[in-house]
Amino acid sequence: MANFAQLLAMSENTDELGAHVSSAGGVQHAPRRARDIDSVVLQLFTKQPSRWAEPKIDAETSSAFREACDDLGILVAGAHDSYLINLSSPDRKLWRMSQRSFQAELVRCAALGLDFLVTHPGNATDGDLDAGLERNALGVTESLRAVEGQTRVLLELTAGTGTTVGATFENLRTIIDRIDEEVRDRVGVCIDTCHAFSAGYHLVDDYEGVWEAFDRTLGFDRLGLLHLNDSKHPFDSRKDRHEGIGMGTLGLEPFRRIVNDDRLRSVPKVLETPKGDDDVVEDLRNLGILRRMRDR
Ligand SMILES: [Zn+2]
Ligand SMILES: [Zn+2]
Repeated sequence: MANFAQLLAMSENTDELGAHVSSAGGVQHAPRRARDIDSVVLQLFTKQPSRWAEPKIDAETSSAFREACDDLGILVAGAHDSYLINLSSPDRKLWRMSQRSFQAELVRCAALGLDFLVTHPGNATDGDLDAGLERNALGVTESLRAVEGQTRVLLELTAGTGTTVGATFENLRTIIDRIDEEVRDRVGVCIDTCHAFSAGYHLVDDYEGVWEAFDRTLGFDRLGLLHLNDSKHPFDSRKDRHEGIGMGTLGLEPFRRIVNDDRLRSVPKVLETPKGDDDVVEDLRNLGILRRMRDR
């Protein structure tokens, strides 16, 4: 992903905007679905995200996926981890299940040659945030130590619901600082616009201030991905409900600024907006809004 900017510049008629696409029928079908919405950037699940079962990627699936990516010119492909994983859990059994599951996610990412694995930092259900951050860093460290590969783990900023860990830039910084030095270079962050707004980062009234705080605390080098989602809930609501671009409480303006922001130009951007009845139609509509707002 390091030379994504160069690749983008070389390939005509493509940009850094993509979407979370379905893996129905097998992950090898996901690249085609990205091209159906004129994208060379994609995010997918490598398994059913609401189950503990850990399928293995066989050699045939892996080569079919890589071949599809090559044939279709996919530049960036990554995964989002399972919803069940909670690497911040104070429950030892759940923590260990989560660590094993996260490690299995990384194994599948390596088998598919994926660029990134997005992970929600989870919940410190006992209310001890600091201990939650510590446990999270340990889980990521153990998993990265066990699995080699090019996949970068991206800690996603959360909306801050309940005992959620990772709803501030400082939380993400703390996790990164506590991850073992040996594997720390393989960790970055993903900022979701809906989560940021819900967590109290005012991308509408204080766009510059938010990114200045981000740069000060984490730095743009750590920014591996943006999730572009509008929000159904108001500013600082601590709620995580995505809405179509321009149809929620964020409105169009912050997205117009994001797609025209030079600091973010080579950061891959993925939609996780509601798909409606037809994934392709809805994703193309949302991507169209973003693409038309780009200054030429
Ligand atoms: Zn997200
Ligand atoms: Zn979300």
